[in-house]
Amino acid sequence: AVVAPAPGVTVFRSKLPDIDIPSHLPLHDYCFARAAELADAPCLIAAATGRTYTYAETRLLCRKAAASLHGLGVAQGDRVMVLLQNSVEFVLTFFGASFLGAVTTAANPFCTPQEIHKQFKASGAKVVVTQSAYVDKLRHEAFPRIGEGLTVATVDDAGDAPEEGCLAFWDLVASADESTLPAVSISPDDPVALPFSSGTTGLPKGVVLTHGGQVSGVAQQVDGANPNLYMGAGDVALCVLPLFHIFSLNSVLLCALRAGAAVMLMPKFEMGAMLEGIQRWRVTVAAVVPPLVLALAKNPALEKYDLSSIRIVLSGAAPLGKELIDALRDRLPQAVFGQGYGMTEAGPVLSMCPEFAKEPSPAKPGSCGTVVRNAELKVVDPDTGLALGRNLPGEICIRGPQIMKGYLNDPEATARTVDVDGWLHTGDIGYVDDDEEVFIVDRVKELIKFKGFQVPPAELEALLLAHPSIADAAVVPQKDEAAGEVPVAFVVRAADSDIAEEAIKEFISKQVVFYKRLHKVYFTHSIPKSASGKILRRELRAKLASAAATA
Ligand code: AMP
Repeated sequence: AVVAPAPGVTVFRSKLPDIDIPSHLPLHDYCFARAAELADAPCLIAAATGRTYTYAETRLLCRKAAASLHGLGVAQGDRVMVLLQNSVEFVLTFFGASFLGAVTTAANPFCTPQEIHKQFKASGAKVVVTQSAYVDKLRHEAFPRIGEGLTVATVDDAGDAPEEGCLAFWDLVASADESTLPAVSISPDDPVALPFSSGTTGLPKGVVLTHGGQVSGVAQQVDGANPNLYMGAGDVALCVLPLFHIFSLNSVLLCALRAGAAVMLMPKFEMGAMLEGIQRWRVTVAAVVPPLVLALAKNPALEKYDLSSIRIVLSGAAPLGKELIDALRDRLPQAVFGQGYGMTEAGPVLSMCPEFAKEPSPAKPGSCGTVVRNAELKVVDPDTGLALGRNLPGEICIRGPQIMKGYLNDPEATARTVDVDGWLHTGDIGYVDDDEEVFIVDRVKELIKFKGFQVPPAELEALLLAHPSIADAAVVPQKDEAAGEVPVAFVVRAADSDIAEEAIKEFISKQVVFYKRLHKVYFTHSIPKSASGKILRRELRAKLASAAATA
């Protein structure tokens, strides 16, 4: 029931008490704080090879990776680009950079050369760590020449010669002397990760996440005395979601290491291999996205595996409905299901289940749990900016030590997203109920999410407008059962053009990663715009919704 806001109740907080966060520690020291105590415990499991690395080995290899990067000229503040699937080498490069005070910008290796180049250029990366299979993407004309302006280290099978001009990652690591690491002084405000996100509007931008911010973000999820938090020592975490996305990097890898858990790294999603891995290594905590829940709920192969080790399924990155949870609950009756709500700029988690031990479910269906500890959440009226009380939907805003420092080299975009009082405006519409639980009901920002992947409409619109046969265009989300949303375009043909839908789709497909491909093109006479020229996306979305309703 909708109730009037109680006087003064405009800021929502966790049900759990705040904790002491050691945000003075550099991220690597914070995550490896128990490496000596857990020296022989498993830390990384490479599912593809079956090789397990203990905490002591992992920390040593990360320091050797740091020494290797240092040898390549990487210094504090420099950027290192990672173009890898989930792998031990991804982890070593990320922490290797962190030990040096350098910053990792990870990109999806499936992106096109143009897309990778944009991130490479915007980040100013000095070194790229990748696999030989992706090196051709870096030979695209826009990149500096490999071996001359650009240093590339490749991760390949032992004994394979690296691509021309590239260095072999493992040779570098094997010959590195970690005792030569320079002493660097890292402050909490120094950047450590630079994922790219379009945020509430426009093109993808570098999101500056700091040591102090990431330490806080991890602490909010796994530190403190509560025994029912989602990970602890002895847990085995499934790492199948791509580490180039902050959900997997922060809520799986970093949280697991801090908690003393092991991380089972899967290079890509392949149902059989994943189920095999869960059974073999007795995975206990599975971070998933709704399309993965759907795939698991419907796949008959599940019956063939012993998945009884899974005690927690945590879904994030996109909305998860009750029907889907129920379908999977039937197949994993022993597991507790929870949902987290995150956004790259928020570092990333805003809310999640506070206690995973409550049976049968720690939160109501559709709920994204409660706001994380040591943070404040408010819901504001998108028109007036005034804070709303319980049960009233509005734009979700978050304030806390975990949020981004800002967008890289873009103070205007930063100021549009984080206000002068430190509130990050998410562009999501949601409300907080009587039990402090957060529900997301809509999105006012432009962003489209295909299976949890970001599809920034502005990027596709810019590509469409570059086509001589297109006079105007707008891209909006259309609901889709399997993907959640798919991008579709409204296109105004140029005078005398009779360009067809397929030609437009193909024109886009050639330039973008698979999840940004257009699923449908609707031809129209004009794109609705406001007086200031902003596309009225709501109108277009409403048009699609009413067409679907009458179909
Ligand atoms: P990203 O920065 O790629 O993590 O995307 C963040 C956006 O994904 C959020 O602002 C939401 O729009 C959406 N999102 C993330 N988690 C959830 C969730 N549990 N329910 C609904 N939407 C979500």
